[in-house]
Amino acid sequence: MKKVFACLILITSFQVFGQTDSILVRKIFNEALSNGKSYENLEYLCKKIGGRLSGSPQSLAAVEYTKKLMESLKLDTVYLQPVMVPQWIRGKKEIARVLKSRKHGALNLRICALGNTIGTGEPGITAEVIEVKSIAELAQLGKEKINGKIVFFNRPLDPTKINTFQAYSGAVDQRSSGPSEAAKYGAIAVIVRSMTTRLDIYPHTGGARYLANVPKIPAVAVATIDAEMLSGLLKTEPDLKIFLKTSSEMLQDVLSYNVIGEIRGTEKPDEIIVVGGHLDSWDQGEGAHDDGAGCVQSIEVLRIIKSLGIKPKRTIRAVMFMNEENGLRGGTKYAEIAQNKKEVHIAGIESDAGGFSPRGFGIDGSDEKIAKITSWKSLLAPYGVYDIARGGGGADIGPLKSQGTTLIGLLPDSQRYFDYHHTSIDTFEQVNKRELELGGAAMTALAILISEKGL
Ligand SMILES: [Zn+2]
Repeated sequence: MKKVFACLILITSFQVFGQTDSILVRKIFNEALSNGKSYENLEYLCKKIGGRLSGSPQSLAAVEYTKKLMESLKLDTVYLQPVMVPQWIRGKKEIARVLKSRKHGALNLRICALGNTIGTGEPGITAEVIEVKSIAELAQLGKEKINGKIVFFNRPLDPTKINTFQAYSGAVDQRSSGPSEAAKYGAIAVIVRSMTTRLDIYPHTGGARYLANVPKIPAVAVATIDAEMLSGLLKTEPDLKIFLKTSSEMLQDVLSYNVIGEIRGTEKPDEIIVVGGHLDSWDQGEGAHDDGAGCVQSIEVLRIIKSLGIKPKRTIRAVMFMNEENGLRGGTKYAEIAQNKKEVHIAGIESDAGGFSPRGFGIDGSDEKIAKITSWKSLLAPYGVYDIARGGGGADIGPLKSQGTTLIGLLPDSQRYFDYHHTSIDTFEQVNKRELELGGAAMTALAILISEKGL
């Protein structure tokens, strides 16, 4: 009886866990870790091309490079999808100087212009500074206290959040909406504490969005160490003045591209699984973690499938989206074309949270789909990919949601991501080869499981 029972358990466990599935997942990870190409591809993208702001020559070089790379994999299709993108330029090195502090004299602050913002003009601006911790505080102070001043948003990321993306979400309104919200009360410029979990000397840029019908004012990010110092100074010298000079500007939209490559499914080619990242990055660093990593991992998914000789039942498509950082035009255009062509995207898997050790996947979809994907947890857990649950998705695949696509975001360990995010130190050297490869392997395994079992 005991033997029969043990036998039954064995049979069911094979059915539940699928021995062939676990062998396939093992092969995928072995291939990624033994013959992986994502690291050297990332090196090229970072070192030979560099920062890839939408509309820049570098962004077009990256389009050309990733297209060639996918063509070399002998995929079924590789093509460019044209999309008009905004072209914002930073201009000259920005200057922020505390003028004549009684304690310290003149002091330079480490700043950089926020994406999409206007410049101060050649003479620069000089004004008193008023510190706030939130957008809500602007209303309490009112026009009387804010008019004609520079608003300094200085709410730190909440250090108690274990997932640092939650800390980021809880603070980023100061950067994205702060400039226009402050302008409503007559502010003439905005300085925002950088969106990072640590105290550092690097200004972290990022997109700001101007509201229509509100005056556009210049806005910059300040390094967190300098933000602390400025805050301290303001406590004893609330009347101190800052000189600010930036020369950023928004030019005309220009033509760019999403880069697409796919392996057609053998049984259900019309059911598409997208894996992707965004090819554009900010201009200050090399866009290594954000999001060169996601791009080379997505290409790696197709390389692994080809080199293992897997013939997926459903179509697996890698997309390098353009313009996630300051417009999301690539993601929006991709979904629009999918809709027009009546393509069916059963799942989108995005990697846009850094090239760190993968811990899991966040899923945005129906209970039934989430249950199906989480039932594969035991296949991925041996590789450290155990956190598979509701949540996540990705900015670029987001517009597919209205078409019923299940959105999935790769969840790497998040503790160090905001050390580098949108800075001059988001460089190739900050990415670990094995961690990058594990992420690509996890994406491959999940894409193949969806392809073979459906969703
Ligand atoms: Zn990103």
